[in-house]
Amino acid sequence: MGDHAVMCVNCGEVQHPYALSCPKDNALVRAYYSAKQLEPKSLYGMWTFFDWLPVNGKIKGVGEAAITFPSENLAAELGLDNLYISFSGYWPERNALMKTCSFKDLEAPPTIQRLLEKGDNSRLVVASAGNTARSFAQVASIADYPLILFVPEMAMKRMWLIVEKGPVTLFGVKGDYADAINVAENVAERPGFVAEGGARNIARRDGMGTVMLDATLTIGQIPQHYFQAIGSGAGGISAWEAALRLKDDGRFGLNLPRLHLAQSFPNSPIYYSWRSMDPMYTAAEETYDDVLFNRKPPYEIKGGVKDALVNTDGQVYGISNNEAENAKKLFEQSEEIDILNAPAVAVAALIQVVESGTIGPHDITLLNITGGGMSRLKEDFAMNMLQPDMSISNAQEALDFLEDRR
Ligand SMILES: *Cc1c(COP(=O)(O)O)cnc(C)c1O
Repeated sequence: MGDHAVMCVNCGEVQHPYALSCPKDNALVRAYYSAKQLEPKSLYGMWTFFDWLPVNGKIKGVGEAAITFPSENLAAELGLDNLYISFSGYWPERNALMKTCSFKDLEAPPTIQRLLEKGDNSRLVVASAGNTARSFAQVASIADYPLILFVPEMAMKRMWLIVEKGPVTLFGVKGDYADAINVAENVAERPGFVAEGGARNIARRDGMGTVMLDATLTIGQIPQHYFQAIGSGAGGISAWEAALRLKDDGRFGLNLPRLHLAQSFPNSPIYYSWRSMDPMYTAAEETYDDVLFNRKPPYEIKGGVKDALVNTDGQVYGISNNEAENAKKLFEQSEEIDILNAPAVAVAALIQVVESGTIGPHDITLLNITGGGMSRLKEDFAMNMLQPDMSISNAQEALDFLEDRR
């Protein structure tokens, strides 16, 4: 089960199972599963797709899946008759049960399961602007796995859990997301720590890939179009990789979905790279959702965002805050669930594409709503705000603090 080899996507050489890149060409590595056809298991949530997750077991009490449903109201507003929505978040009326309200809940469970299997108990280091931190904090708490989080101070308001905090150390970093990443990289290099690896981590990617798997099983075929708001673009790479496996499966069509990836303009590095333009950024706080502003996305690297776009005949959109705001209202009113700001950027891209006539009214289109239901969650659960253990401006301060605590 979940049986696989980890290979470089570029040179095809077999790598160490926990490798994050190919030592020869720095390309992404990918899991190549021995199961060539997708056989859903009767397991909880995302573990249903066990055969195509790089794990040998599962963590009890986590692993809620994304749901897929055919849209009626938004589809009617846009004049589309084959619009499907993938929803990652909390929406119990539709059986969406993610307790931190974003698709990062698909990334943390297989990542921490793999660390448990590796068994050296090194402390997991994660930098995040909020959503990733919540997901990893939740899974680490439930699995009792040691986790060190670096979160920019301005994102601290996003740090809450509905479960009791486990062995998690939370550092507030003075600065923005880029600063938090720098500090985390510095700490993760030390012995006894391990970096989660971001887009290079196959467990994160294949966890997110279950969105495409669930959608394809629900629809009965691989969608023709896939819309997602991206920061690193890891979700786009994941959708592409999952579609490649589904294509090889042979029962769901031989097409790949065209990737329609949306960024918050003008803080949109991938948008500029795709169009060969020089970037012109504004302050990070002006990004419609700061989870979408990643300054060093895995774009040029082999197996990365550019390859995914080229291979799927994809496109990248730059969405203004005004467009995103209008799209958010339209979505929330028509589908009757609150969504995070990031997925509103994807909705706005869909609106742009429909208006331009690039997709036809009958095209099978998948819209990934990567986070939502936070207001809905508050009706059912109390959110415990997490207080930082310490506020820091560099890695040494964090290391000193951790040393004192041992
Ligand atoms: C992280 C995140 C994204 C962007 O994900 P990528 O890794 O860039 O694909 C989009 N929406 C939400 C809600 C997120 O948390």
